Amino acid sequence: MDLGIKGKRALVCASSKGLGLGCATALAEAGVNLVMNARGSEALEAAAADLRAQFGVEITTVAADVTTEEGRAEVLAAAGSPDILVTNAGGPPPGIWSDWDRDDFIAALDANMLTPIALMTACLPAMMERGWGRVVNITSQSVKAPIPALGLSNAARTGLTGYVAGTARQVAPSGVTINNLLPGIHATDRATSLDQGVSRVQNISQDEARSRREASIPARRYGTAAEFGATCAFICSQHAGFMVGQNVLLDGGATNATI
Ligand code: NAD
Repeated sequence: MDLGIKGKRALVCASSKGLGLGCATALAEAGVNLVMNARGSEALEAAAADLRAQFGVEITTVAADVTTEEGRAEVLAAAGSPDILVTNAGGPPPGIWSDWDRDDFIAALDANMLTPIALMTACLPAMMERGWGRVVNITSQSVKAPIPALGLSNAARTGLTGYVAGTARQVAPSGVTINNLLPGIHATDRATSLDQGVSRVQNISQDEARSRREASIPARRYGTAAEFGATCAFICSQHAGFMVGQNVLLDGGATNATI
């Protein structure tokens, strides 16, 4: 399917690895020129070189922490006014409700709620002026069904979800869509470190931890970054202009819910 976005410009945050890279790859395959960002430059430069070689698109890289004000300023200076914005950053650490104080919540809100909001605030006006834009926020299945050990993530991402629900309807008249993409477990470094944690706590091998988790998913496997990226690219395509303010869950059926 021709996604109809060849030649557009996208800012894809946190995209040297994992789900962000999956999104950057699928957009590059659709002919979209990219600004890619990650904290470290080594993996970022390697990923950008690979996508340039595969798809022949223009790619600018910005090594910066997008959750800081200075980092965002650098990223936004390079991106200018993109047609497509994919927000992403690492998730907050696990724990239990009694572990977290005000500073922990402020850090989680900064990273996973206020950062995407700041990026949207910066990018939406030009999209609206041009009468076309796409925003995809990478959030988590935890906004549909809480993951108890990820209370900081549950809280911050649900705040973002509420913001998007209202804002998406305010910008839609200008041809701009905002939607959230909700990953369940996907085979990335993040999943590996979650499996390592389970392996330590339950005194089982990492493979066994993964097998047990896979057995609990109706699809009986982890998702891939490529599948995730393809869905992101579709939401950014010309064909998805009527999709407004949605929360699209990619979890292999793990969230046991009718809607
Ligand atoms: P990952 O750890 O595999 O990828 C991390 C990427 O993000 C790297 O490119 C890293 O440089 C970049 N990054 C992280 N923090 C950054 C920051 N502050 N500024 C700039 N770049 C940053 O992670 P992932 O698995 O791709 O997950 C992406 C997001 O999706 C995370 O917020 C994660 O919590 C969430 N999520 C992931 C899963 C999963 O199973 N992988 C499930 C639910 C939610």
